[in-house]
Amino acid sequence: MDYRGKVTIVTGGTHGIGEGCVRVFAEAGAQVVFCARGTKEGRDLERKVTAGGGIAHFVRCDVSKEKEVRALVDGTVARFGRIDCLINNAGWHPPHRPIDDFTAQDFRDLLELNLVSMFVACQQALPYLRKTKGNIINMSSLVGSIGQLHATTYVATKGAITAFSKALAIDEAAHGVRVNSVSPGNIWTPLWKEAVDASRDKAKARAAGEAAQLLGRMGTIEEAG
Ligand code: NAD
Repeated sequence: MDYRGKVTIVTGGTHGIGEGCVRVFAEAGAQVVFCARGTKEGRDLERKVTAGGGIAHFVRCDVSKEKEVRALVDGTVARFGRIDCLINNAGWHPPHRPIDDFTAQDFRDLLELNLVSMFVACQQALPYLRKTKGNIINMSSLVGSIGQLHATTYVATKGAITAFSKALAIDEAAHGVRVNSVSPGNIWTPLWKEAVDASRDKAKARAAGEAAQLLGRMGTIEEAG
């Protein structure tokens, strides 16, 4: 992959799959703008990528806040002049529980974070992506198509991301912008660690996650990036 001279935005880029995307795109020569809510982690990764010869710029942004997503996109164009790729990665998997134990407000909040944030980021970035004939990558999940135990709200957001990406790809073909979604299986990230730490038998939970993969192990963040 050669991204020299190109600009990529990664949401939720401070750790996990997003960090993998930041590293892989910076290694391919891209100027990478990445965001998250935690400034310290963001500045640390910015420094590491820069020390390795890459270009990465951290912006503090909560993707569930429309105004902050707008500022992320506008700030990227003000700084680097263009956008070639938007990776909508930020998202969260709440702890597993049956539907009885989620509230409708829990679901609304997760929709804002996992799904509506992508709509907003796409809408803001598309005027620039149409100019560069760029592309959008939305982070969905395998469970969006196969389901998952005690994860109704999360699975619903991920199924919707895949469907949203298909519809947007049809519209944007006329502008030469490609839209794809990626549906990873299990990737070992802080989010997965959070799930393991919350389970009664940590070793068993992690082993089950590894065993569910055909390779017999979880993917790495670089493989996902
Ligand atoms: P993670 O929790 O390890 O990392 C998430 C990143 O998003 C972090 O940088 C975090 O700071 C950021 N983030 C969270 N909320 C945010 C907000 N409101 N605004 C801005 N940034 C925010 O998660 P991960 O495992 O790397 O998952 C990343 C994406 O991949 C998610 O959308 C997740 O649903 C999806 N996914 C993960 C797996 C997996 O096995 N890890 C599998 C399928 C899909």
